[in-house]
Amino acid sequence: MEAPPDKSQQPPPKRRQRRCPVCHRPVTLTGDRAAQRLKFFPFCSERCRLVDLGAWFDGDYRIPARPDDASDEPAEDTSA
Ligand SMILES: [Zn+2]
Repeated sequence: MEAPPDKSQQPPPKRRQRRCPVCHRPVTLTGDRAAQRLKFFPFCSERCRLVDLGAWFDGDYRIPARPDDASDEPAEDTSA
């Protein structure tokens, strides 16, 4: 007699696990540094908070894009 396989898949325990909206890392608000992490809540760190802020402050935290150099053709004014 073989024991039936355990089909009951145990769902993950419902913890108060928040995830950083930027890097999606679990943000733990427990422990000694909970107060520090709360400063950046819901982000995991100051860095991620700044990254998210950068999305709002258009310009400061943006990747420096190339200048709009679409003018490949020489703009020669050949007016005969
Ligand atoms: Zn993060």
